[in-house]
Amino acid sequence: MAGRKQRVIKVRSTVVNAFIICGERAVIVDTGMPGYDVAILSVMEKYDVKPADVSMILITHGHHDHYGSAVALKQKTGAPVAMHKDDSESLRTGVNPKLIPIGMKGKIMVGLSGMMKMPVIKGMEPDILIEGEMDLSKYGIAGKVVPTPGHTRGSVSVLLDGGCALIGDLIFGGFIRKKAPGFPYFGYDSQEIYRSIQKVLDFNPKIIYAGHGGPFTAPAVRRRFFNED
Ligand SMILES: [Zn+2]
Ligand SMILES: [Zn+2]
Repeated sequence: MAGRKQRVIKVRSTVVNAFIICGERAVIVDTGMPGYDVAILSVMEKYDVKPADVSMILITHGHHDHYGSAVALKQKTGAPVAMHKDDSESLRTGVNPKLIPIGMKGKIMVGLSGMMKMPVIKGMEPDILIEGEMDLSKYGIAGKVVPTPGHTRGSVSVLLDGGCALIGDLIFGGFIRKKAPGFPYFGYDSQEIYRSIQKVLDFNPKIIYAGHGGPFTAPAVRRRFFNED
C-alpha cells in the first residue's frame, strides 16, 4: 500500500458506520454489529486493501454496534484489537454497559432497547489498551488517537494529519438530517462531551466522521454546541 495518499473509506450500514483508514498500512475504525465483518472485508477488497495490510482494529468505545465484529475481523486479518482501558470491560464480557440517556430521544431509545433482544456478542481480551494519546505512525497511519470521553468513559477519537477526524459516538447525526450534528442519545457527562468536542475542534478538522450520521463540518459543530459561526 506504500506510496498511496492517505484516505478514509466509509463502510455504511443502516445502524452504524465503520471506517477503513488507508495509508502505508490500514486501520479499521469500529466494526459494526456481529456479521458486519463481511461488508467491511468486501469494501476492503473493492479498494484493494488486503487483510494482511490491516495493522490494527481500533474500537472507538465499548458499545455493541462498534465492537460486534471485532473477534471475526481479528480472525480474518490477524490484526490486534485496540481500545481504551476504561471501556475494555465491555469488550471482555461482550455485554453492553447500562446506557445513560441524554434528553428525550435518549429516554425513548433506552426504553426501546429494553424491549429488544440484544444480540449475544463473543467477548475478547483487547490486544492494545489505550490510556493517553497514541501515535499511529507505527501502524502506518499519519495521525493519532486521543481520549474524548463523555459518551462513555473510554471513548476515543482519531485525528489524522490532513484534517480528518473520526469521533465515534461523541456527536450523533439526526434521524432525518444526518449531517446535522447533535448530542449523542446516551452519555455519562454532558460537560465532558462539550470538553471532548472542543478538543476535536481545536484540531481544526476539515471533516468529522461519526458512527451515526455525519459527516459534519467544524463550523456546523461550532454553531450547534458553542453558538459560534
Ligand atoms: Zn455508543
Ligand atoms: Zn453507536
